[in-house]
Amino acid sequence: MKAAVFSGPPGSWPGKPLAVEQVPTPTPGPGELLVRVAACGLCRTDLEHLKEGMRPLREPPLILGHETSGTVAGAGAGVAGFREGDPVLVACFAPCNRCSYCQEGRDNLCPNADIPGGNRDGGLAEYVVVPAAGVFPLPRGSPVQESAVLADAFATPYHALVGVGHMRSGESVAIYGASGGLGLAAVQIASALGGAVVGIGRQPWKLERALGMGARAVVSTSEFPRPEAEVNRLTGGGAHLSLDATGAPEMIAAACRATRPGGRIVVMGYGVKEVTVPLHRLMWLEYAVLGSRTYRLADLASLLTLVEQGQIHPGSIVSHRFPLDQVNQGYKMLEEGRVLRAIVIP
Ligand SMILES: [Zn+2]
Ligand SMILES: [Zn+2]
Repeated sequence: MKAAVFSGPPGSWPGKPLAVEQVPTPTPGPGELLVRVAACGLCRTDLEHLKEGMRPLREPPLILGHETSGTVAGAGAGVAGFREGDPVLVACFAPCNRCSYCQEGRDNLCPNADIPGGNRDGGLAEYVVVPAAGVFPLPRGSPVQESAVLADAFATPYHALVGVGHMRSGESVAIYGASGGLGLAAVQIASALGGAVVGIGRQPWKLERALGMGARAVVSTSEFPRPEAEVNRLTGGGAHLSLDATGAPEMIAAACRATRPGGRIVVMGYGVKEVTVPLHRLMWLEYAVLGSRTYRLADLASLLTLVEQGQIHPGSIVSHRFPLDQVNQGYKMLEEGRVLRAIVIP
């Protein structure tokens, strides 16, 4: 089969681009499924490995891609409930279902998880083998290619808003980074769940899309580099729930100045810098600052129900499609901020 192989070392891209080459088609072992890939999303996390030098969980060579949809093409021993040709979504991890985290229902923290594109080959290929424990049937009528983005760009903010942030209908929700794929998905989910959403972001054409996805108002950081006053004005004294999708210290600090007393601040963006916030605000205003990492598989199941009900449209954030041969170009455009979410069609 054809696959886009990252041979490392981490940080060597784009000088050393992914090689699109023939590799043996994998065979599913016990408990695993062979999925014929319909599409695989390109994610900023991949750029952390490719460009920033963050080590993947397994040493390269590695096929990246953790946002995959496709159809079942084969099953290993002991797999029940799937038939060849079934349209499926591959979650970005498959938990062990045995450790204490899994047993507490916090499978997103499972230390033994199988992670396609992380500690095993991922979806930037014609086929991928994944544990059946991380595979979900796609709702009838859901477009198979575009649905790939549910596996990360939608499921991650769903967990942040609902699983961690306990968002309720009628609340004001400020979303920082509403101009990236995850941020725009967050706008759509929070709006669908009855939130009054304010989107904060940089690029005007993407903020325009946020309005189209249900945001009541948007704040451009080109116009308001310190957006907190504007967010406070628009939410009447601060949001009930603030979600950061940027990982940028200045945005998290802004969220801490534009959340109403008793509110929640959820950090979903990945960053390595330190954040300075006055502690007295956390204490006096009784803020909860919460981290959110990927999602629980139960969140993905709930999200798929919203898709089935027509409340969430995965295709709405897919702005670009690339054949596998142009995967490097896709990452380049992602790096330059020129896409909402790009998918690769092998
Ligand atoms: Zn990702
Ligand atoms: Zn586990």
